[in-house]
Amino acid sequence: PSKVFPRPPTMCASCPLLGPCFALSHIRNLNIIGDIGCYTLGAGHPWNALDTCISMGASLSMAHGMDKGRGESDEKKSIVAVIGDSTFLHMGMQGLLNMIYNRGNVTVLLLDNRSVGMTGGQENPGTGQDLHGLPAPRLDFAKLVEALGVRPERIRMVDPYQLPVMVKLVREETKMEEPSVIITNRPCSLTDRFEHLKPYTVIDDKCTGCGNCIDLGCPAISVARRETVTAKSGKSKELVFASIDSNACTGCHMCVETCAPDAIIQPQPTIKDRVIRIQPHA
Ligand code: SF4
Ligand code: SF4
Repeated sequence: PSKVFPRPPTMCASCPLLGPCFALSHIRNLNIIGDIGCYTLGAGHPWNALDTCISMGASLSMAHGMDKGRGESDEKKSIVAVIGDSTFLHMGMQGLLNMIYNRGNVTVLLLDNRSVGMTGGQENPGTGQDLHGLPAPRLDFAKLVEALGVRPERIRMVDPYQLPVMVKLVREETKMEEPSVIITNRPCSLTDRFEHLKPYTVIDDKCTGCGNCIDLGCPAISVARRETVTAKSGKSKELVFASIDSNACTGCHMCVETCAPDAIIQPQPTIKDRVIRIQPHA
């Protein structure tokens, strides 16, 4: 029988959950408890960002239990709970209340993508619309977690596409000796709330093969080619050069943040593009 090409489950291009998973995969000494949502895929390749996940809404209570029951081997590790907006409202916020009441110490990543992404983008009290698509009061997550007892200084809002900021914030908050909540603020890329921009491309001459953008896990980015070179130390090293599928890329800009040599750019329209665009109105 012929071999099946490996296609692990993955997130969507420009998914706002990619940034948090990328950040978690770059920070050491964390015990990370996931929950049920698209971000559960963060347990897999290339992020390996979750250590465990049991059932919907359980992440905060599990994290609190791990914090209270920690032994010598993980005394110096920080505990992180990862949960989405709708799961937090469904069953997660009770765990936060319990954690505050019992003086736990967990960093919560509250990934607000303004939808129930995994089941098709349904509305929830945090989206500003009801299930019929009509305007509805929109819950303020920052106010909610403050009301549950998190100190305002420990409630941090972040754009998950700003990867260096995301990594820095998680590093900072996991060092705190009290509960903190990091709330992301980009919509699911499959909903109408998401704004599609011009796709990016990789300039092959500038790509050094570092593979950083591929580690982001965006499915619009793929391996263009691999090369084995000999490093100064004499050891052989594999370079991984990237390319971006312009049909899948939504122009979110996230991968640009991973590329030191500025090899990822938004191409300027050519004269041919302009002529094609002008023609329908002529
Ligand atoms: S800009 Fe980069 S991260 Fe965003 S969709 Fe395009 S390839 Fe993916
Ligand atoms: S991050 Fe930049 S240099 Fe590194 S593989 Fe991607 S495009 Fe190439």
